[in-house]
Amino acid sequence: MQAMPSDDDEEEAAELFSCGICEDLMIVPTTLVCCGRSFCKECVRLWIKTNAQSGGIPRCPGGCMQKVPYRLPKHSIALRVAMETLLPKRLAARLKEAAEDEQEPEQLGGFQAWSEIAASRDILYGNNVIVRQGSPGIVVGICEDAVHLTVKFDEREDGSDLCVNVVPEALMLPLPGGFRLRQHVVALYELLLNSDMKVPLGSVGHVIGSLGEDRITVLFESLSRPAATPGEVHQSVPEYPVSVNIREVAAKRPLVGGFSIAQKVQASMSLVVGSRVVVHAGCRGTVLAEFSDTRLTVVFETSETGAPNCCNVLPLEIMPWCQTLPGLPAGTTVRALHHLMSPHAIIVPAGARGTILGGVDASLVFVSFDNGPAMAAAISSLERVPDPELGSPGQEDAAIPQGSPVSVLDEDEMEEPECPDGPSDKGIACMSTPLDSSSVRVGNVDASG
Ligand SMILES: [Zn+2]
Ligand SMILES: [Zn+2]
Repeated sequence: MQAMPSDDDEEEAAELFSCGICEDLMIVPTTLVCCGRSFCKECVRLWIKTNAQSGGIPRCPGGCMQKVPYRLPKHSIALRVAMETLLPKRLAARLKEAAEDEQEPEQLGGFQAWSEIAASRDILYGNNVIVRQGSPGIVVGICEDAVHLTVKFDEREDGSDLCVNVVPEALMLPLPGGFRLRQHVVALYELLLNSDMKVPLGSVGHVIGSLGEDRITVLFESLSRPAATPGEVHQSVPEYPVSVNIREVAAKRPLVGGFSIAQKVQASMSLVVGSRVVVHAGCRGTVLAEFSDTRLTVVFETSETGAPNCCNVLPLEIMPWCQTLPGLPAGTTVRALHHLMSPHAIIVPAGARGTILGGVDASLVFVSFDNGPAMAAAISSLERVPDPELGSPGQEDAAIPQGSPVSVLDEDEMEEPECPDGPSDKGIACMSTPLDSSSVRVGNVDASG
């Protein structure tokens, strides 16, 4: 027969499960990562609030001196189950007692302690902005004056770790999708607003509010980058806020390799799958998305088949594309005025001929040299070969390089140009260019703005 635990044993067990703050059995046992000690969740929160409201930085109540996180970890299931198993009666009594003591959570202006919030406006201290509009944070508690809330913002402009006491009007609920007021975002799709107004893929704007659970309002800016092709109409975006689904935009940031959504690029080498060249060096494309930490999804304009090719490429397999100077269109035959050097060797000897594949930027063009590499070369190092010297004028097909470097792709780096309803599991937002209606996202017009 199993021995009943003695009072002494039980006392010992209770000691093991006691909170270092209230010294009673832990309720909602929460283990701090700093030193692994466990406390009642409410005890730690009260500890944080008391320290924060007295102008200090809350440090571990276990004595390890580390800062305590304002967002506490999930409670420890193992500890709770162990208490339920070893000390069922004591725990039940303790929980009953705590339930009787429990009070309605305090509210001020609709905000209660430990709720996630964001600054609805800039918060000033004197003349200085200490918290930017949109900054996220967590409410720590209500001040004794019953007018202010103590808030820990995730970041302060002055770098301070201290909490700020603010009136509820300075706070708002966080926007959906983790977006922030004023945050710069980029359109991941072409957004159709009505028959003659749309937001082009890659348009940049800033967040100005939210609409419901999964929509934010964005004020888009007109594209400042130059038209990529001479015939391209400069599209104007609406001057009023547009309501978009949170999956239709992303935070604006440089992608791997420094490229950006909707940037015009060209293949810097021929891309090969198996023994088939799927994209020739110089082939133009558009960056659609970041595929992974190392690859970008690019849709290439492959003219032979007419169907655009979606590939997940490494940054070195593409380079920026821009319109070349009027006198040097793609297909122009040029000659190197002098040796084109890498740091250690002559890559292209003076006099070598090549064909311009496309522009890279204002001073560089991408040239496929005969019997040599395809490379970006300074316009100043090239001269145009007069037409009479040529057998036939340069054609688009003549731009296919002979001995240019080749990159071999795996089959899975090729993407069928599908048009998913949203980003798929693999994170690809793949679509064809030009965009057909099935790949176009429809955004609602917010007429209130
Ligand atoms: Zn406690
Ligand atoms: Zn600690």
